[in-house]
Amino acid sequence: MTYRINEMFETLQGEGTFTGVPSIFIRLQGCPVGCPWCDTQHTWETRPQDQVSVAAMLAKSTAASAWAEMTADDIMDTIVAQDYQAKHVVITGGEPAMFDLLPLSQVLEANGLQLQIETSGTFELKVSRQTWVTVSPKLDMPGGYLVRPDCMARANEIKHPIAMQKHIDALDQLLARCDLREDVQICLQPISQRPRATALAMQTCIRRNWRLSVQLHKYLNIE
Ligand code: SF4
Repeated sequence: MTYRINEMFETLQGEGTFTGVPSIFIRLQGCPVGCPWCDTQHTWETRPQDQVSVAAMLAKSTAASAWAEMTADDIMDTIVAQDYQAKHVVITGGEPAMFDLLPLSQVLEANGLQLQIETSGTFELKVSRQTWVTVSPKLDMPGGYLVRPDCMARANEIKHPIAMQKHIDALDQLLARCDLREDVQICLQPISQRPRATALAMQTCIRRNWRLSVQLHKYLNIE
């Protein structure tokens, strides 16, 4: 089993329940969901001509579609070689659930790391029982993929970007037709730190005892 890796880096998690936690980000290449506002569109296509060495992938300084092929052991070896200190690993994309993440989670967990996956909820999840699953449900996107009830049921956290009330209404409709974990965390994330979106998200979180996710990395101007 190999994974196509767009980038690996160490930073602080800026979103959701683990905001502020030092984290190793592993961004996987490939996503067919097609969100118009996606800020990682360079991960959508996996073109053979974009394949590079692991060293070249790690050396990238700007967002680009170059990717490297790695096994779970390669990824663990790179974490050690890069001297990353974080114990939390965020698997993101692209759409990481397009890959079988069980071998990767087993290797990383055997080395004392805790995994989190960030997914659109549109692909079957293949992750360990211990993996923290963050579903950011992508509804009615051009790719035509449906948010899967089994992903919603597995979610430890549901993180939803909002700009206006209709986005909260759409989330309500989705939640009403899903079975969820009793302890699921629901986070609202104002899109692009817009003041009106932030005010709406704050009011809604306080009223419903949900969490506010502010994308801390954008306030800190870090990756
Ligand atoms: Fe972008 Fe994520 Fe939507 Fe894929 S699911 S298009 S990576 S925002």
